[in-house]
Amino acid sequence: MLHSTLYFLPLNCVLTTLLFGGKHGAFINMHVSLTVYQLQQEAPRPKRITCPQEVCAALFHGVISRDYADELLVGTEGAYLIRESQRQPGTCTLALRFGHQTLNYRLFYDGKHFVGEKRFESVHDLVTDALITLYIETKAAEYIAKMTTNPIYEHLGYTSLLKDKMVHRLSRGRTEPRRVTFQRDEKISSPLVRRSALKDMPEKQCSYEKIHNFKVHTFRGPHWCEYCANFMWGLIAQGVRCSDCGLNVHKQCSKLVPSDCQPDLRRIKKVFSCDLTTLVKAHNATRPMVVDMCIREIELRGMKSEGLYRVSGFSEHIEDVRLAFDRDGEKADISASAYADINIIAGALKLYFRDLPIPVITFDLYSKFIQAAKLPNAESRLEAIHEGLLQLPPAHYETLRYLMAHLKRVTMFEKYNLMNAENLGIVFGPTLMQPPEQNALTTLNDMRQQKLVVQLIIEHEDVLF
Ligand SMILES: [Zn+2]
Ligand SMILES: [Zn+2]
Repeated sequence: MLHSTLYFLPLNCVLTTLLFGGKHGAFINMHVSLTVYQLQQEAPRPKRITCPQEVCAALFHGVISRDYADELLVGTEGAYLIRESQRQPGTCTLALRFGHQTLNYRLFYDGKHFVGEKRFESVHDLVTDALITLYIETKAAEYIAKMTTNPIYEHLGYTSLLKDKMVHRLSRGRTEPRRVTFQRDEKISSPLVRRSALKDMPEKQCSYEKIHNFKVHTFRGPHWCEYCANFMWGLIAQGVRCSDCGLNVHKQCSKLVPSDCQPDLRRIKKVFSCDLTTLVKAHNATRPMVVDMCIREIELRGMKSEGLYRVSGFSEHIEDVRLAFDRDGEKADISASAYADINIIAGALKLYFRDLPIPVITFDLYSKFIQAAKLPNAESRLEAIHEGLLQLPPAHYETLRYLMAHLKRVTMFEKYNLMNAENLGIVFGPTLMQPPEQNALTTLNDMRQQKLVVQLIIEHEDVLF
């Protein structure tokens, strides 16, 4: 439904004033009913000019002068040939007739042919695409420049529907973090007293955003941009497509599309190794269901298990759990009848965190947390960690908050499970935070701080979130 609407919409878009330069620089103001789509149909077609020597007849003409190439091409729009460059022997030049002049491009080959960004199977395809682009950019330059100024994007029913959904989710999804200040008064030492000393500040304005994951895309059949509603011209790589939500736009329009990507569940193939925000948005949830389900299972039957999170389960069984989540999503069976050993579930949860493409404590904020842990004063350390937490993306913040509340409960059973904030810090430190550039030395140097950050968040979870 959506696509059929889009398909016809631009056909009604009329290029009312189409300006193009005449041969003598005069501008002709034309009122024509042309769409960029029609312009593409009108663009000159490529015509191979083969070598005139009787026995040769190849597209490649060897070393010939610019003037001679000109002579061979003159009079035929779209005519092209390949010659060896006179200035740089060994390199190829594509000579192409367009707009009553011969254009010369350095032609490259690396398995595919290219003169710019786009790579083609054949020189013929390259020339077809070049002629379309040249024709449209000449005929409708002004129109293209203005294309993005009045986007249809906001007006699309599906976008506003999406916005409603997002606002709705925001209101129930995110618990706004309290902005608090920590008193520097050294006399205040116990967490309880400290908590009462916290002051609520105005809430942080935080919108739940996710950027689109645009990749250059070749569309088969005519396609129109879902941002500006104009035709996506060219033979290949006509635009970009978001691989999370499937939004199709011009490359130039992709820079203007708001960060409101709503991942499509059908495009999200896996649960593990999927970006946290993407997964949460695709499932319309606050946290990844893997986290919720594993924690629920552990709290049900594992809280008194000695060495919980420290003792590892069989890696093959942990791998089984991962596959079950990737395959069945929230229907994955992780009950005691499927996996009697709770360490398998705990191991799967740790694996989930370790496999995130962006760790829960993001690469961007990594050094902020490490620096926080290095501060000598306990109060300023907590304050700096709190600052860092407030900067986490919402999905990361919510997930961490939930996990830390759980780990705090785990420590309440220390008598049985022998796990406290300190040894949980050792386990979860490197799992929740990894340096942006992995190298053995940084990892080794930061281990103490990683442990301390997680330990402090567990200990002060009630104050920090
Ligand atoms: Zn998207
Ligand atoms: Zn566009």
